Amino acid sequence: MSSVFNDLIDQETVIATLKDAVAASKDSSNNSQEMTHSWLFTGPPGSGRSNAAIAFAAAILCDKGGCATCINCTSVIDGSHADIELIRTEGLSIKVDEVRELITRTSWSPSIGNYRVVVIEDADRLTESAANALLKVIEEPGARTIWLLCAPTLTDVIPTIRSRCRHLTLRTPSISAIAKLLIERDGTDPKMAEFSATAAQGHIGRAKYLATNEGARKTREKILNIPSALTDLASAFEAANTLLELAKEQAKIESETRDEVELMKLKESYGTTGSRLATGGGKAVKELQKEQELRTKRLIRDNLDQALLDIALTYMEILTSNMNLNNWVANKDLQIEIQQKANEVSPDSAIQAVSAILKAREKLNKNDSQNLTISNMFLQLLKA
Ligand SMILES: [Zn+2]
Repeated sequence: MSSVFNDLIDQETVIATLKDAVAASKDSSNNSQEMTHSWLFTGPPGSGRSNAAIAFAAAILCDKGGCATCINCTSVIDGSHADIELIRTEGLSIKVDEVRELITRTSWSPSIGNYRVVVIEDADRLTESAANALLKVIEEPGARTIWLLCAPTLTDVIPTIRSRCRHLTLRTPSISAIAKLLIERDGTDPKMAEFSATAAQGHIGRAKYLATNEGARKTREKILNIPSALTDLASAFEAANTLLELAKEQAKIESETRDEVELMKLKESYGTTGSRLATGGGKAVKELQKEQELRTKRLIRDNLDQALLDIALTYMEILTSNMNLNNWVANKDLQIEIQQKANEVSPDSAIQAVSAILKAREKLNKNDSQNLTISNMFLQLLKA
């Protein structure tokens, strides 16, 4: 049977809770149990926390509790339903002005359904003042507005907000469940599905991206080969350079077409007289370009983070191979290279390497210099 919850894989507990809440919200005889108005979905990247929130929103607004086929379900999922607000951050943070605007927009009564549902995909990116502005509405939500916040972990959201939300945790889906999803939902070839699901290590979106994008698979391979080329100081700096360039290149590919289309649409909306945009057009174009720049920065950071995770996995594999724990394999395509490196690197060194990579991730998350952090990391891997 089709259901908006079908794509949430390995999340039975969460789905059961959401279905109960939806059923209670539609039961008119049920006066005692009021719908919870603020929810917080946490789970590791790629576990599907925002998909869970959107599926829940669809189920709330669907007359049949989330059939996945009616106009309510489909328009919630594509973001066009009049009673849903999807807040996706493209930049590095959600600012207080955006939250204030959002609060004004959502203070109206729902136009079609019983509820107005707001999904904030990156609640961890709310600035402090934005979070405080949001806190006020979450403390006293309108009877017909439901807030669904998503973040990687509980500690990513300020305590005052998280204490007022009902909390749900998604777990990392298993590799076999992700492969099955790719085969059944997207028609991916089984071999490719298994390869991508394994390489993505529990990240559904990453698995799909790898399965459908040859460029991404090539970039990943280049990244994973970097550690094998570490021989001396010069090669460590060279490795840092290569990694940064790959992250930038990938971000450029991911944003270029979208940036152009957005700019074209914006210019069209202002209309052109000769070569000049109508009043206000120039300012709007500048604002859009600033936003696009922020988005590219975030994409570069995300790509770097992904690259470091992939490299850390390689060292984990070198470690398990060294200790003869060969049942764990993340990079099926690179077993020969990994075996070679395993002969050169001791288990202790592999552990040090993983810890150096994770430290570098933390630094990048705190916005430390990318060049310095990555160069430093490779120097440490050289010693490992
Ligand atoms: Zn429906």
